[in-house]
Amino acid sequence: MKLTVLGCSGGIGGETARTTAFLLDDDVLIDCGTGVGDLELDALCRIDHIFITHSHLDHIASIPLLVDSVGDERGYPVTVYATPETLRILRSHIFNWLVWPDFTSIPDRHHPFLRFQPLKVGESVQLGGRTVSALPAHHTVPAVAYSIDSGQGQLIYSGDTAYCPELIAAINQSPRLKHLIVETAFSDEQRGLAMASRHLCPSMLVAMLEELSVSPEVHISHLKPGQGERIMGQIAAGASRLKPEALVGGQVIEF
Ligand SMILES: [Zn+2]
Ligand SMILES: [Zn+2]
Repeated sequence: MKLTVLGCSGGIGGETARTTAFLLDDDVLIDCGTGVGDLELDALCRIDHIFITHSHLDHIASIPLLVDSVGDERGYPVTVYATPETLRILRSHIFNWLVWPDFTSIPDRHHPFLRFQPLKVGESVQLGGRTVSALPAHHTVPAVAYSIDSGQGQLIYSGDTAYCPELIAAINQSPRLKHLIVETAFSDEQRGLAMASRHLCPSMLVAMLEELSVSPEVHISHLKPGQGERIMGQIAAGASRLKPEALVGGQVIEF
């Protein structure tokens, strides 16, 4: 199984900054930020499943345009998985006929372009030998992390989260964990902002990593544009035994 990084930045701007989206093999998206817009139309048509960590725009921005672009080309709906709370937000504030049409009833309710599938923390979805499970996370809106198990190994992606003991416990219960993608949105100078917006800064990340009893490769995502080197320098100075590396757009992780 391979995970291709379509976007992993905390913002936009320039040639490389795209917001969070990961392509699992060629038919599953984990978050649906602006990075999805770089895919060719035929690649967009192959996407059957989209798992969303939370409702913030940088993680959902491409869902409305994706569904509109490919809906007519496909014989069956794209399925968006998220917690019931997140799906309620998407229905009320995006697919509400005001910001965007309700594609769960286009062209009609029996053959829609889009369907929503609730997925609660602790629940899993099986997709042909691949298991995607929702794990706890702490953010300003209802949010989850995801575990993806290929049968050979496991990857966990934090989504957007503050320090979260329940997520740390879930990570420590994953003995076959090979990769951990974890956000660090702010520098230590912006610790107050990180706390208020329920994101991590380097000192909080290092504290979290020190509690891990497993030893995955650690990849850092959601770096604020223009702050990447500073944040990664502060993480390196924290001297975690896991030696985190910045995730980059286009990177492919096989597991
Ligand atoms: Zn967020
Ligand atoms: Zn975000």
